Amino acid sequence: MQFSLPFIIRFQLLIFYFCLGFSFYHCHFEKIPEPNINPKDQTQILDSNVFPSHLEWSKIKETVWIHRSFGTFGGKVYSANGLVVLSNKGAVVIDTPWTESQTEELFSDIKTKFQKEVLFLLVTHAHDDRMAGVPLFHNRNIPVYSTSLTAKLAKERGLGKTNPILDIQTRFSLGQESVEVFFPGHGHSADNIVVWLPGTHILFGGCLVKSLDAEDLGNTKEADLNEWPNSVKRVLSRYPDAEVVVPGHGDWGKLDLLRHTIRLLVTPNH
Ligand SMILES: [Zn+2]
Repeated sequence: MQFSLPFIIRFQLLIFYFCLGFSFYHCHFEKIPEPNINPKDQTQILDSNVFPSHLEWSKIKETVWIHRSFGTFGGKVYSANGLVVLSNKGAVVIDTPWTESQTEELFSDIKTKFQKEVLFLLVTHAHDDRMAGVPLFHNRNIPVYSTSLTAKLAKERGLGKTNPILDIQTRFSLGQESVEVFFPGHGHSADNIVVWLPGTHILFGGCLVKSLDAEDLGNTKEADLNEWPNSVKRVLSRYPDAEVVVPGHGDWGKLDLLRHTIRLLVTPNH
C-alpha cells in the first residue's frame, strides 16, 4: 500500500505522541510512594546488618515488662514494644513481637524468666508489628482478644483470627492486678486501642502514642490526622494519673509522650 508523504509524517507524529503519553502515564501513576518514616527517628536502626535477632526485655515494675522486638518497614529495621503483665494466675501479653521467631522467644522467656503460663493475648490494632505472632498463640490454644473492628481488619489482612470480646469486656481481673482496654477514637489507625493497668498506673499507648524522640508520625497510611489529637486528648483526660506511658515504638516515659504526640499532630509540616 502506498501512502502520501504527509500522511506518513502525520502517522509517525501520532505514534510519537502516543508513546510520549504512555510513558508519562506510567511515570505519573506507577511511582511507588516513599515510606512515611523519618530517617532520624530514633527507633530506626540504620544498618540492617545489625538486625537484632533477640527479643529485648525492660522492667517497668516487678510485674510489668516491655518486650521489644525488631522488624522491617520500607526496607529499614525498627523496634516495636509490647507488654507482659504478670499475676499470680499467669501472664497476659499485650501485642505479639514483630516476627514469629521472636514470638517463640517470648514464650520460652516467659517460661524461664518468669515461670508463668500465658493466659491470653490482647492485640491493640490490626498491623503486623502487633499481630505477627498470633498463629503461635493459636498453636498453643491461648485466647487472642481484640475489638470487633480489629478482628474484621485482621481477617481481611490475613493476620489471623481474634476473638472480638473487647467491645463488651473492657476490664479483666487478674487477682491483684487488672487490665483495662479503652478505644479513644481514630488515630494511627481506625481500630487503635490503649491498655491501662490501674494497679501500677502504667498506660500502654501502642501506636497511638509517639516516643519523645520521634520527630514525625511514622506510618500514617491509615491515620486520621484531624481526629488523632482528639483521641489522644481523650486518653489524657481518662488517665491523668498515669505514671508510665509506653509507646508502640521507642522509649517509654511519662504523660508528656501524649502531649508530644499532640504537638507533632498540630504543628504544621509534620
Ligand atoms: Zn500500626
